[in-house]
Amino acid sequence: MTIGVLALQGDFEAHRAALDRAGACAVEVRTAAGIEEVEGLVIPGGESTTILKLLDREGLFEPLRRFGERRPIFGTCAGAILLAKEVLRPAQASLGLMDIGVERNAYGRQLDSHVAHLEPEEEFRRRAGAGKLETVFIRAPIIRRIGPSVDVLAWYDGAPVLVEQGLHMAATFHPELTADARVHRLFLAKVRATEPRASAK
Ligand code: GLN
Repeated sequence: MTIGVLALQGDFEAHRAALDRAGACAVEVRTAAGIEEVEGLVIPGGESTTILKLLDREGLFEPLRRFGERRPIFGTCAGAILLAKEVLRPAQASLGLMDIGVERNAYGRQLDSHVAHLEPEEEFRRRAGAGKLETVFIRAPIIRRIGPSVDVLAWYDGAPVLVEQGLHMAATFHPELTADARVHRLFLAKVRATEPRASAK
């Protein structure tokens, strides 16, 4: 199973390593043809405004959105911002693949970067395994709104930090920066559970 990591900007290297640790074959994706070759895709953390600009420049915005209509995407931090339906402060364009509203850089300067140890929800524990989750937040967004078909897999300080909806998953923290492979393994399981690609049938 080949998983792509969108490698335009941000910490895509760390995601590639984390996916390898979780047992996937991960490749960097920079072109529309590259997107078509993977079963699932990770949009890494970084700077969502920059990633957005590069998506436009490379003509990848539409191919990525269409990919997301059929195949799973996991967005972390800036990637979560790109998946969201609404982006606040400042408002910016996004793929709109998940029914969530996010506020960028929402923890303010004091908490620009912080680490928390949180107890994930039962649903996460059942599917991914028990034990606290170490979450690294770096100039993270806060998910301010979730639609009725969005499930929360982990909360921190009253806000959802790991959510899923249909094919997609979003985290406001950086699971690729810890040794715990559960979050990536959960994404791999979602990809595995998604119908094989038409071309692979
Ligand atoms: N602050 C960044 C943004 O708004 C996200 C930070 C991150 O991905 N670590 O795009």
